[in-house]
Amino acid sequence: MYKGIPASPGIVIGPAHVISNKALAISRETIPASKVEAEIARLKAAVDRTKIETIATKEKIEHEVGKTEAEIFSAYILLLQDPMFTGKAEEIIRTQLINCEYALHMVLQNYAEFTNRISDSYLKERSRDIGSLADKIIRNLESAGRKEVKLPADKYIIIANDLSPADTADMDKNSVMGFVTEVGGATSHTAIVARSMEIPAVVGVRDITSQAKTGDLVIIDGEKGIVVVNPNPKILGSYKEERKKFILKMRMLKRFKKLEAITVDKHKVELSANIEFPEEIGAVLENNAEGVGLFRTEFIFINKSNLPGEEEQFDAYKMIAMKMSPKSVTIRTLDIGGDKFLPYFKIAPEQNPFLGLRAIRLSMANLNIFKLQIRAILRASAFGKIKMMFPMVTISEEIDEALKIVDEVKAELKRKEVKFDESIKIGIMIEVPSAAIMADELAKKADFFSIGTNDLIQYTVAADRGNETVSYLYNPLNPAVLRLIRMVANSAHKAGIRVSVCGEMASAPHLAYLLIGLGIDELSVSPSSILSTKKIVRNISFRDALEEAEFALKQEKAAVIYDHVMASLDKILMPRKKENVDES
Ligand code: PEP
Ligand code: MG
Repeated sequence: MYKGIPASPGIVIGPAHVISNKALAISRETIPASKVEAEIARLKAAVDRTKIETIATKEKIEHEVGKTEAEIFSAYILLLQDPMFTGKAEEIIRTQLINCEYALHMVLQNYAEFTNRISDSYLKERSRDIGSLADKIIRNLESAGRKEVKLPADKYIIIANDLSPADTADMDKNSVMGFVTEVGGATSHTAIVARSMEIPAVVGVRDITSQAKTGDLVIIDGEKGIVVVNPNPKILGSYKEERKKFILKMRMLKRFKKLEAITVDKHKVELSANIEFPEEIGAVLENNAEGVGLFRTEFIFINKSNLPGEEEQFDAYKMIAMKMSPKSVTIRTLDIGGDKFLPYFKIAPEQNPFLGLRAIRLSMANLNIFKLQIRAILRASAFGKIKMMFPMVTISEEIDEALKIVDEVKAELKRKEVKFDESIKIGIMIEVPSAAIMADELAKKADFFSIGTNDLIQYTVAADRGNETVSYLYNPLNPAVLRLIRMVANSAHKAGIRVSVCGEMASAPHLAYLLIGLGIDELSVSPSSILSTKKIVRNISFRDALEEAEFALKQEKAAVIYDHVMASLDKILMPRKKENVDES
């Protein structure tokens, strides 16, 4: 039995599929000597196809975004024409008689080992380019009818060292029952995507790839962060029971669907949903969320082979706005960088990506891409109730600059007589301590605040949200975090604007209780957490929540706050032995 970090709730029991690195779909397969030429022809065809696609992408980006942004694609095309690049893979196929996917993978590993040993940033960057090109070729090999990788069963549990948010977004829910990784944190984007796809997951389980073998029976308890490999019959039996209870608990929550999110003393809390993919709108409506509080748009960019153009973005935003109408949809502009990267969007390698060119900083450095997204959002605003929001605002000047750009785009649309919502609300995320401290000033410029606690915590305590070795410091109950949240809520209310929390903190019952007491008006959680959060709201009193928050703000240590809030919640929920499902 192994303990890790709970990343996505649910209990699953199934066979393991262990992968030693993050190359999800690449397996080593031996081929007979008679198939060597056919395998090389397959490689060449995929390279040619990738070249044609890259040329088309280059032209599209040149046309829609700009020449500078398209330059990287010229470098890709040159690489694809370089016989050294694919020649090495050909040689491996011939001499080692293995499939071309694995041969490409070996070439890449050689490059990676080489570039790890050198410090030249140009060469490092070039190796990243090669990595993303090889990915594209492998995708093209797959679509050319590659035999599926042999997996242990129809359904399996992935056990890996690490999975990127893009790997997770690519998972087929029909076959992946759950996953376990050795690295990661509860609010890493890999965990967030798992929750939105409702795939149970545990992260940060040290050494699990060497403890489990493919085919071993594995249990994942994503709520408690427990992984069991080859359980004895007694443990297996008890988890089968737990699984039934979990399913029943989820079913019981459905009773809250039609009810309002209001405390017993009639304080209204707005409950909205966070989404990563347009397809999640079904789950948002199914759980009767009051709106979309956060649409992480970078996920419509993440598993594409090139940057989605204005029309593609417009279509996605318009569809969501129409389906949610008359409820509102808060669209956040791109938040790339940190732990999310796009193969076709070049960022020079950074020592500290979470402290680097991320989110609005990256948008500001790529104005064409930023403007294109703003144009798509504004155009979609004519079809529903859209709000726009900027991520990772750090200084006041960023808001000035971003609003200036919005005004420019609005003027251009007006000139062209394109319809949009002229009074669209524009808010900012508060997720950097400097913004929280200056919230009273920033509130004068924003129509609303949304606190991104996932980042606010990591930047306040200087502990990477995806690093399990410092997860003991990553604590939402750190009094410094709570005091910052209180400051932001007070500043927002003084300026007459609303404040929400869209970080994962909003979906833990005891934390939602505290956030309400700290003055948060809206909680935005994953669609699958809407009803459990509503249950908390409907069972607490606002007056108690205010008192709880006052107590917490006077404390020095997170552990004292935790014990106190848990005891209060127990008292609230236990003696009544009933859940407030009355219509009143
Ligand atoms: C946050 O930081 O809390 C947030 C909602 O944004 P993300 O998790 O995408 O960084
Ligand atoms: Mg964030």
